[in-house]
Amino acid sequence: MKEISQIINGKRVIVKKPELLAPAGNLEKLKVAILYGADAVFIGGKEFSLRSSASNFSLNDIQEAVTFAHLHGSKIHVTCNIILHMDNIGGLADYLRSLDKIGVDAIIVADPYIIYLAKQLNLRLEVHVSTQLSTLNTSAISFYEKMKVDRVVLGREVNGDDLREIRKNTEIDLEYFIHGAMCIHYSGRCMLSNYFSRRDANRGGCSQSCRWYYDIYENGDKLNKDQIVPFSMSSKDMALVDYIPDLIEMGIDSFKIEGRMKSLHYIATVVSTYRKLIDDYCQDPDHFIDNIKYHQEIQKAANRALCTGFFHEFPNSTCQLYNQRDEHPTQDFCVRVLNYDHQSHLAMIEQRNYFKKGDFIEFFSPYHDNIVVEVKHIYNEDKDEVDVANHPMEILYLEVDVELLENDMGRKVIVNES
Ligand code: SF4
Repeated sequence: MKEISQIINGKRVIVKKPELLAPAGNLEKLKVAILYGADAVFIGGKEFSLRSSASNFSLNDIQEAVTFAHLHGSKIHVTCNIILHMDNIGGLADYLRSLDKIGVDAIIVADPYIIYLAKQLNLRLEVHVSTQLSTLNTSAISFYEKMKVDRVVLGREVNGDDLREIRKNTEIDLEYFIHGAMCIHYSGRCMLSNYFSRRDANRGGCSQSCRWYYDIYENGDKLNKDQIVPFSMSSKDMALVDYIPDLIEMGIDSFKIEGRMKSLHYIATVVSTYRKLIDDYCQDPDHFIDNIKYHQEIQKAANRALCTGFFHEFPNSTCQLYNQRDEHPTQDFCVRVLNYDHQSHLAMIEQRNYFKKGDFIEFFSPYHDNIVVEVKHIYNEDKDEVDVANHPMEILYLEVDVELLENDMGRKVIVNES
């Protein structure tokens, strides 16, 4: 295994920095993920991919994604993780050749035939085994190594001790989930959605039936009659903020964030928070103490309660959302900065959600600490002053004394009025 850290100028620094791998459901989110610190982004093509309802990428989109990513030193992984039926095989070889020609860095696969075919075609791109295959042990990993697979995306069900053991006993690249939604079944082995809505979770159509409300009966008696909210099987989301140092010291190669369907604000917030956390730790691991600020930042994008998944211990009832509705809106994403004029102190912005004079906006970016400003003056494109910003995507100008950067985002600060 590669050396994790070295003493440089009398100080230990991490020399094997993990890849931060972000999701993206469209080109705008992909570009933001890269600008906010992702070393690699995974996307779904229009063919042979799960998450069919996500706004998947055409080959032209993938070409644009690869060009943008490579220009910024990032990589593109494309999911080809469909479970193949007989009628899915036609066109597969040509599709893989096209991805390779475009310069895609890796494909994520779940069907053994795609692994075999990609290797037979002598493609340059890497082949990564999808989490859909629920790889949880070194023997399975050895099997994939023999198939010349380049990386294994482990199942979320691998706990911290097993992960350490797997890392010690394998050389292959390992990818591990650090953040995002969890299934209450083994990921990718769930039939609830098929049963209730004829939407196949294994073919990208999950209707999240586990999060619906249910009444439970035994021999005709309703067991949950005293509950205010009916029974639900939803899991809390996973956030491994506290375990990032452990994962870095173990030598895990790639840290994966889940959520190709998530919003721009979510991607920007989560990616930039983990970017800063990883960089801060790697720079001076022996004096790293402050996790609180990363927790606070992650909370701004969380619309569900968070837990540590399987990493620390087997998830118990405190990791579930039984009998409660726990989805809440995240802080309002209201502004994207297009540029900033130092002379006039006017920031040209794109409106993303309603705000008005007197509101406070917190601007964030991977390149500076958060900046909170009160909205004192808003101008439209004709430079006439307006009181409210209520037209989505309208170009407006805000007077801001502090320098803002292109692509900074602003979220409305929710003032507690109690
Ligand atoms: S229904 Fe729930 S547990 Fe099943 S695949 Fe969908 S999200 Fe996962």
